Amino acid sequence: MINIVENLRAVQSEIESSRRKSIAGAPVTLIAVTKNHEVEMMQQAIDAGAQHIGENRIQEAAEKFKILNREVTRHLIGHLQTNKAKQAVRLFDLIHSVDSEHLAEAISGAAYSIGKIQDVLIQVNLAKEETKSGVYEENLPRLIEAVDVLKNIHLRGFMLIAPNYSDVENCRPLFRRMYEIFVAIQKTRQNFDYLSMGMTHDYKIAIEEGANVVRIGTAIFGDRNY
Ligand SMILES: *Cc1c(COP(=O)(O)O)cnc(C)c1O
Repeated sequence: MINIVENLRAVQSEIESSRRKSIAGAPVTLIAVTKNHEVEMMQQAIDAGAQHIGENRIQEAAEKFKILNREVTRHLIGHLQTNKAKQAVRLFDLIHSVDSEHLAEAISGAAYSIGKIQDVLIQVNLAKEETKSGVYEENLPRLIEAVDVLKNIHLRGFMLIAPNYSDVENCRPLFRRMYEIFVAIQKTRQNFDYLSMGMTHDYKIAIEEGANVVRIGTAIFGDRNY
């Protein structure tokens, strides 16, 4: 049996130890990633103190949010298709996966139509993995400029998914580089405050290297059955 209360407590305590070693030292927001888990698990996590939950698919999130009767901040952490922008802005407080001008425009347009300013992160593909979404570092300045022109979208930070190295220490230079980029951009802007990086296998290192948002599923809910 999975003990969500215990797992959540253990993760929170690991987060706090890593935070003390962090180069940023700032508080860290934990997103409990509930994809592929029943809404009951989501409710249990919220009742145990989780204030943020993350989902990666629009359809699945829509069905679960319909029955979820809890207050919680909702994060879209998965890739978003332009034609689902409308649903995404209705469902989510923060969209982590903006990686193209086209998508940013769709989100802003959808947000405008419901009178919302949508908070987003730009997903960066620092390792240039072809299997992953995210903007390459060299295209990042241009995407930021494009997002800045849009009226109903508000850029709040960056999201990174590190490669799944067997030796997790290999992620460290990437996290460090992402934090450097984040800090450099942050100096030039206001309300640019989220650096979302770190999942079950690498969140301790991500926090040490400056992450202030981590997205954790397996360590809280156990393995997912696909
Ligand atoms: C599934 C997922 C996570 C959580 O992964 P775990 O290894 O289960 O902690 C984090 N971020 C993204 C983008 C994901 O899709």
